[in-house]
Amino acid sequence: MARKKKNKKSVHKKKRTALRKKSRPIRKKLVHKKPAHKKNVRKKSSPKKNRRGGTPQSVALPVRQPSQPAKNISSYDVVLHNFDIAAAKLQLSEEIKQLIKTPDRELRVELPIIMDDGKLNTFIGYRVQHNNARGPTKGGIRYHPDVDLDEVRALASLMTWKTAIVDIPFGGAKGGIAVDPKQLSLGELERLTRIFTQKIDCVIGPSEDIPAPDVNTNAQVMSWMMDQYSRRHGHTPAVVTGKPLELGGSAGREEATGRGVCIALREASKSFKFDLRKTAVAIQGFGNVGAHAARILEDEFGVKVVGVSDVKGGVYNPRGIRYKDAMEHVLETGSVVGLKGAAKITNAELLELKCDVLIPAAMGGQLHARNADRVKAKLIVEAANGPTTYEADDIFAARKIPVIPDIYANAGGVTVSYFEWAQNLQQFRWDYQRVVAELEKIMTTSYAEVMKTTEKYNVSIRIGAFILAVDRVAKATKLRGI
Ligand code: NAD
Repeated sequence: MARKKKNKKSVHKKKRTALRKKSRPIRKKLVHKKPAHKKNVRKKSSPKKNRRGGTPQSVALPVRQPSQPAKNISSYDVVLHNFDIAAAKLQLSEEIKQLIKTPDRELRVELPIIMDDGKLNTFIGYRVQHNNARGPTKGGIRYHPDVDLDEVRALASLMTWKTAIVDIPFGGAKGGIAVDPKQLSLGELERLTRIFTQKIDCVIGPSEDIPAPDVNTNAQVMSWMMDQYSRRHGHTPAVVTGKPLELGGSAGREEATGRGVCIALREASKSFKFDLRKTAVAIQGFGNVGAHAARILEDEFGVKVVGVSDVKGGVYNPRGIRYKDAMEHVLETGSVVGLKGAAKITNAELLELKCDVLIPAAMGGQLHARNADRVKAKLIVEAANGPTTYEADDIFAARKIPVIPDIYANAGGVTVSYFEWAQNLQQFRWDYQRVVAELEKIMTTSYAEVMKTTEKYNVSIRIGAFILAVDRVAKATKLRGI
């Protein structure tokens, strides 16, 4: 069992390395902040939209126009909207509401690095600490061209509510750099990570704020962060989580978010009474979270994955896509696109596939007012952070499509990060079976608590989850005193 797992991990490691190109065109100028009207507008995954692969076993797909994202709803707007509803249901005072809604601290840092060609390039990074009433703040580091303060704020806020839902002793934070890491060499990536760590050194630490991987960052990036921080403070593995096992990482951390998503789906199958073995799932995003979820769903839950996608596009096969085949194809080509025996689809089409469950596991804002009415899944389990706008939520509610919200469904990652942090502080190791068993306990208990709150207040599952979280944070804030 242990050997099997190690192989899977190294497969993921190889995939990341394969995806990273060594050469890059020089970025002369970085756009640090998007204009408001561009919020929520994501780059198209491929210029060749709506072309179908002509593989011998291609399957017919419904023809449709590409979706347009809704305008003017930023990811932070979505979080605040849901927070406000929860705060109103809890009848929080205006003072407490403002206090716990607003981020504690926002840091913007300039990151000059010398590129491989000898030229100077400056990037912009952020760390936002949203709330630390329940413990040190915790949250991932994202490397993506769309990263800006608004997005980091939204993601930091989500972390506050997420850590409260699974009742682990953390608050919420998030960070990121506006950069496309695929355009950097490994050396440039390391230099960028090291200067970022140096610049945020003053606000992070095992009892202050503990970063972790997110989109386009991984165990290697966490190793550099840990090393850079330790140069000033002495060996400090607990300053970041998501490290490799050799540097104090936890067994089961890499797959933890995907595993948590699978547990969320399994618990939902009990509530909504459907058989997982007769369930067809589509997954947007085949990175850390999406790929591990696909593997665990197939191997352990007997679920059929009919569609998967990545930034370059997607593939669909109603008879099922095997994880092993998809991963081998990704390792060879860098994408799921072109997988033998499956029809080529766009990311927009993946979201609207004929399936029972949709798992968005890529970027935020993917389900919005202009495509929510075309989603055919009967249940949505949010693996990504903030994939659904509040307009889409209303449409899903009207169509009676339950949404298992991100702040619960993808909390498996931060939960095992908590185990990693605890192991580092105690200088003690848990084995994989213990990690999986403890994760199971937390995810199933939290699911029951979210559903209980949802029923008590007669609200959507998302608002139920927010009420549970906001109540816990408000109580901790009042108990500590202002
Ligand atoms: P990743 O970088 O490993 O993978 C992201 C995947 O999404 C890749 O397959 C990429 O090709 C694809 N993608 C990127 N842009 C896309 C687009 N516009 N359309 C379709 N696909 C696109 O990242 P990850 O760690 O798997 O994170 C995925 C999501 O899960 C993010 O929203 C992240 O915030 C969230 N999340 C991650 C963790 C974690 O532990 N890694 C924890 C909680 C939540």
